[in-house]
Order: sequence, then structure tokens, then C-alpha cells
Amino acid sequence: MITRTEKIRQTPVWQHAMASAIKSIDELLDIVQLSAAELNISEAARKQFSLRIPMAYVDNIRPGDPHDPLLKQILPVGEEMRTMENYLDDPVADLDAVAAKGLLHKYHGRVLLLTTGACAIHCRYCFRRHFPYPEHSANRHNWTPALEYIKQDTSIHEVILSGGDPLTLNDDKLSRLVKLLEDIPHVQTLRLHTRLPVVLPQRICDELLTWISRSRLNCVVVIHSNHAQEMSESVIQALQRLQQGRVILLNQAVLLRGINDNVDKLTDLSHRLFAAGVLPYYLHQLDPVNGAAHFQVSDERACYLHEQLRHRLPGYLVPRLVQELPGLKSKSPLVDLMTCEK
Ligand SMILES: *Cc1c(COP(=O)(O)O)cnc(C)c1O
Ligand code: SF4
Repeated sequence: MITRTEKIRQTPVWQHAMASAIKSIDELLDIVQLSAAELNISEAARKQFSLRIPMAYVDNIRPGDPHDPLLKQILPVGEEMRTMENYLDDPVADLDAVAAKGLLHKYHGRVLLLTTGACAIHCRYCFRRHFPYPEHSANRHNWTPALEYIKQDTSIHEVILSGGDPLTLNDDKLSRLVKLLEDIPHVQTLRLHTRLPVVLPQRICDELLTWISRSRLNCVVVIHSNHAQEMSESVIQALQRLQQGRVILLNQAVLLRGINDNVDKLTDLSHRLFAAGVLPYYLHQLDPVNGAAHFQVSDERACYLHEQLRHRLPGYLVPRLVQELPGLKSKSPLVDLMTCEK
């Protein structure tokens, strides 16, 4: 029998780190040495989508800089409360693609399993900031309908764990889910979309590496970093550990006004990712979600930046510039939709 004290002792370090994330604006301001007056903070925005930042991420914010690119990604500000035409609660029509509880089947051969609604960090531009998680997440008790759906469709060769952030689930739950997926012969690839290696690098622990490196599935981890400043030494070490576990590492970023909408910054990000063994995969044009309009970069500017990146970087370090248009069979390259002038 496991006693209560033993149970506490067994709680992994990363779970403590996740639980002790900063949730209070005052505490955050104290650490970054800024005052509320300098930052246009909005209590209404915080109420709509709460503040949550792990210490590992806060450590990479430069104190005293109200324009810090990391701070801007997580700070609830007044601009979020403006109502904007054409901005929606479900901008990518996820709810139209629900195939079974917690399962989205939009694209050929791939399904997306919403494993949890939880994230370790709350990014203000998140396209799922209004998503009704309690109704739509699969969990330990109701993975069955999703697994049954995957079993009966032999064209599905890749299962993408998403959320929320799938790595907020513990390794016991994840390894059990992965075993069930391994039992389905036509599933060949397991993909995880997660921001945890970047915002909570402690999460890449021995237990995770054990189940991931033993799996018969090809494992792809798509991390989410928007700025080179997020890629600290501890993040790089976590990524190296994943690579030692035979995991293919890719990055997706979101193009964000005032944060990374600049050729030098995007170039730095690609170089920094590559130094950590990660290839840039997608650069997303922001999804028009309510509350994030102030992060929007125009399509013209996005195309211009992408063109400049192609001139500066080897092809393998240029992320695909894409946007998600509701109802289409894949993400759409932005360059195909526009004639790039300028
Ligand atoms: C992005 C996404 C995928 C994966 O698309 P890839 O182009 O393979 O990266 C799958 N399902 C949904 C719902 C997605 O949004
Ligand atoms: S789903 Fe991704 S972008 Fe959205 S809040 Fe979670 S970590 Fe941030």
C-alpha cells in the first residue's frame, strides 16, 4: 500500500513546478519589476482567460522591460476586451470536425485527440481560449469512443495528441493511452503538440523518456516557440534529451505583432531552434480569435517576412507560412493565396 507521504514524495518535480505557476498579476509585476501603470493590464481580460505562467518561463523575461516579447505573450491587457468584426470564439471551426468524443478528424490520415483542456501556460493569442473543453476533451474514462473510431478507419496512420497540452497529463496516463494506440496496427506515428518543453522543461523527465523511447510508433514532438529568447539552456537540454529518445523535433510558431514580426527575430529563432536539434515546421498566421486582434500581422506583411526568410536561410530552416481556413482539407500556405509584392 502506498502511504500518503510516499505519494507526495513520488509526485514528479515537474508537477510541483506546474502547480506553482504564477497566477497573480501582482506577483508577476513584482518579479519583472514593472508597475501596472506601465502595462495597460486588464482585470476583465484576466477574468475571461486567467493568468498562468510557470517560473521557468518567467525566468526568461527581461526584468524592467514593458515591451519584452515573452511578457507580451502572457499579459492580460485592455486591447483584448475590444470587440472586433470577423473575430470569433471558434475561428478554425473545430466543432465541425468532431468525429468522436475528444477526436477531431479534419485531414486525411491524421486525427487529433484532445487529451486535456489544461495548459501549463496561458498564451493570450491562443485560438482555443474559448474552446468548451469540459464537453469535448477525451480522458481516461472516455477514450473508448475515440479509440473505436480510429480502429475502424484504416486510413488513419497518425494520431496527434493535442489539447490543451497533452504533456500536462502524467506519464502513467500517457503511457497507457499510447499502449492502446500501439495495439491498433494501422497507426504508425504518434505526434505530440506541446509547449511544455519550452515553458516547463522539467517535464522532459526519465519517466516520459522511458515510454516514448520504447514505443513501436514513430514519435514526433512539435514544440511551440515563438521567440529565440524562450530557448534557454534548460530548454535546449530538455530538447536534447528528447532527441536521445529517438524523437523527431519540429517547431510551430505563431506570427505575433510586436513579438516576432521581424526578419531578424524570425531568423534568430530558426538558428536557435536548429542549434537545439529542432526544425522549423510551421509559422502560423494568427487565427482570428476574439481577444487577440492586437497581435494580428497583415497577410501582406506576413508574406513579405516569409520572402525575406527564404532569402536569408537554407530551405530547411524556413518554416511553412500557413493559415487554417475552416472547412479545408489541409492548412493553407499563405503564399499561394496572395500575390507577394513589396
Ligand atoms: C494542424 C492540424 C493537423 C495536422 O496537420 P499537419 O499539416 O499534418 O501538421 C491535424 N488535425 C487538425 C485538426 C489540425 O488543426
Ligand atoms: S494551447 Fe498552446 S497556445 Fe494555447 S494556451 Fe495552451 S500552450 Fe498556449
